[in-house]
Amino acid sequence: MKTITCYDCESSFQAETREEILDILYEHYMKNHHSVITGASDEAKKQWMEQFEKDWSAAEEV
Ligand SMILES: [Zn+2]
Repeated sequence: MKTITCYDCESSFQAETREEILDILYEHYMKNHHSVITGASDEAKKQWMEQFEKDWSAAEEV
């Protein structure tokens, strides 16, 4: 299990795999930060993913 904290609020989420956490984050963004997804440029989305990849690989297994 790794933990990732949302970039737009204080919520944090745990998952076993990268695919799983992306699903969870996507649902969370759709529900709580819908405008972040709909308002984001392709460049911003790319940056989000790059930041996520970094944080996910750096996150400690718990
Ligand atoms: Zn959030």
